[in-house]
Amino acid sequence: MRVGRDLRLVNPQIGILAVQGDYEAHAKALERLGVERTYVRRPDDLEGLDGIILPGGESTTHLKVMAEESLWNAVKKFATDGGAFFGTCAGAILLAREVRAPAQDSLGLLDISILRNAYGRQLASEVRTGPSKLREKPLEMVFIRAPIIDSVGSGVEILAEDAGHPVLVQQGRILASTFHPELTDDPVVHEHFLRLIGE
Ligand code: GLN
Repeated sequence: MRVGRDLRLVNPQIGILAVQGDYEAHAKALERLGVERTYVRRPDDLEGLDGIILPGGESTTHLKVMAEESLWNAVKKFATDGGAFFGTCAGAILLAREVRAPAQDSLGLLDISILRNAYGRQLASEVRTGPSKLREKPLEMVFIRAPIIDSVGSGVEILAEDAGHPVLVQQGRILASTFHPELTDDPVVHEHFLRLIGE
């Protein structure tokens, strides 16, 4: 880890959990920002990383594979050691303190309660535009079978909301969105993640 003059990390080492889902879209988003990344499939892959992205996909599959590959405890340790996290959609579900509707196990690293499969199939894919705290220009948000964050703890900052629910939240070095910033050309959310890694 090298810290630049402006306290931002120079050449941050980012890993993307690559067991299933849209990890390649995150890799492309980082590529567009000129940031290198590795893929995380085994505990060893976490070595030397500053931050990890948990992509969208199917959280039940991510859970199963992470348990099979002994990644579950390794990822928890990565958090205890100060690693940064960015979870999108299924990744946000994995990070949550509590997962409901239906309930499932989670890493419990982010003080939110989240409802899975909340929007149902009829809204399987929807693009909406709304304000955020990241900048003045509204954000384009791609929702795909998005979960709903129905409560957040006092230490969680809400960076964007949609239809009365938080959709982008941050708690210290943990960032999560229920939409998919990796599926638009707008780099602002990934840039925010890089900034929080450097802090
Ligand atoms: N609802 C899905 C799940 O439980 C998440 C959907 C997504 O990541 N696009 O994993």
